Amino acid sequence: MKIPFVSLEQAKKIIDQYPTPFHLYDEKGIRENARMVNRAFSWNKGFREYFAVKATPTPGILQILKEEGCGVDCSSFTELMIGEALGFSGDEIMFSSNMTPAEDFVLANKLGAIINFDDFTHIAFFEKLAKIPETVCCRFNPGGLFQVSNDIMDNPGDAKYGMTKDQIKDAFRILKEKGAKHFGIHSFLASSTSSNTYYPMLAKILFELAVELKKELDVHIAFINLSGGVGVPYHAEDAACDIMAIGEGVKQVYEEVLQREGMDDVAIFTEMGRFMLAPYGSLLATAIHEKHIYKEYIGLDACAANLMRPALYGAYHHITVLGKEDKACDHIYDVVGGLCENNDKFAIDRMLPEIEIGDIIYIHDTGAHGHAMGYNYNGKLRSAELLLKENGEIGLLRRAETPEDYFATFDFTKLFSK
Ligand SMILES: *Cc1c(COP(=O)(O)O)cnc(C)c1O
Repeated sequence: MKIPFVSLEQAKKIIDQYPTPFHLYDEKGIRENARMVNRAFSWNKGFREYFAVKATPTPGILQILKEEGCGVDCSSFTELMIGEALGFSGDEIMFSSNMTPAEDFVLANKLGAIINFDDFTHIAFFEKLAKIPETVCCRFNPGGLFQVSNDIMDNPGDAKYGMTKDQIKDAFRILKEKGAKHFGIHSFLASSTSSNTYYPMLAKILFELAVELKKELDVHIAFINLSGGVGVPYHAEDAACDIMAIGEGVKQVYEEVLQREGMDDVAIFTEMGRFMLAPYGSLLATAIHEKHIYKEYIGLDACAANLMRPALYGAYHHITVLGKEDKACDHIYDVVGGLCENNDKFAIDRMLPEIEIGDIIYIHDTGAHGHAMGYNYNGKLRSAELLLKENGEIGLLRRAETPEDYFATFDFTKLFSK
């Protein structure tokens, strides 16, 4: 069973002040989880989680994570700007981008961020803009399929990211010649994983590569960046990843591979987005229509512009009808938004309690890649983001868009100048 972090009574009080739809985040959940992540890797002296800003680029959320000791993983100019505005600097910023524009590299370099080169050719591109920093990182793509026992987790051979092994060797050699002294290796091989063995398996691949690179090129490997990919239980029946077991699994491989080679000062970095935030955010919407044709539809005041994952990936998001948690799920509905786009369905053939107009629909696990993926198709406006604080108060993290925001890129005065 999945339990909302607000009751119907709490939700109604919030809605008196802020109309639906809105994303609501749970400060207590975010902090407790971030502390657990830090505890799981506390065996590693240099450990740092660089929160993947793209998942939830909301300053109030990033501030909470900063207070919990996290850095930021940025991949664009504006994500770097957010990081800078919040006071992140130097090695608190990982710049993991790809197909990077020149101005992004320039800003990342100005902030002293750790540059993670996605491609071999990016080194020459970067050199035209700035001096190669002393600490650098390269992204590795081993190609092929990435498997855990017989389960294919993902298909790196098909992914646009990272360098081949030969390229990363050349990259380290050239970077060293150009003055780099401390090296990191980064890789992201599988997304939204459910197995506690993903990070340990990835760690083994990267640790073995680190040993090889150190031996062949005599370089100092300063850190290994396991990036993101740790999943969350979107379905009620899914088991959650056990971050303590994951940390322990990485520790074992660390001892087996790195410590054995005397490489015991290598820091472990992560760039989790989903695991840090998804379960601690929800989208609250109101049922505003019911429709009975060939199927039974419930129409919400939210749509895919507020949460794109179901439309984009067919992703499952659990739904609770607030106040009806204990009622039997004996009705079958498609729960939909109002876009003129038939993919705009939060749930298809979902068993739920009978829904009445005015019911508050709580869509779970929208804290990462939720509001962030919002868009303005059909002229729909992005919703507010609210924070349920630890003391029970509600904070406004981001106001809802208004038509003025939607039209802000036009100059209407021209239409009226004659
Ligand atoms: C998206 C992304 C992440 C975060 O991924 P999650 O699945 O949210 O953990 C981390 N690093 C990079 C480079 C990414 O592109």
